[in-house]
Amino acid sequence: MQNGTSWKQQSSADVKSQSKSAESHAEREAYKGFGNKSGPYLIVQDAFPCFDKCHQYFLKKDNIIIKVTADNTFDGNSYVKEKLITGLGTLPCYIYYHAGAATFSVGVPGPPLAFPPHPSPAGV
Ligand SMILES: [Zn+2]
Repeated sequence: MQNGTSWKQQSSADVKSQSKSAESHAEREAYKGFGNKSGPYLIVQDAFPCFDKCHQYFLKKDNIIIKVTADNTFDGNSYVKEKLITGLGTLPCYIYYHAGAATFSVGVPGPPLAFPPHPSPAGV
């Protein structure tokens, strides 16, 4: 979450497999841990949000950045298939959820114009 000019850790979660229900996926657990603090929120993880569940879930949320540093669950292929990103050769991938849409920026941060001011997620 935003705290002046730097990000402040509010929550952490860890899952080793995706066999549990989507509600317990790491990004969802982390998001729950934010409570009702004001955003924007930054979630850093070594896998893409699963496309069918978590991606759809965060599309209904606002002012969230998910920084994807690796494709350890191989969910990235869904995003390539849907033509949201062109490939998985360059990570991290920054996904900005804002106003019902997701904006993808590969390699470097690239928030949509209307996204609220926030510290750069590049060094986190
Ligand atoms: Zn998920």
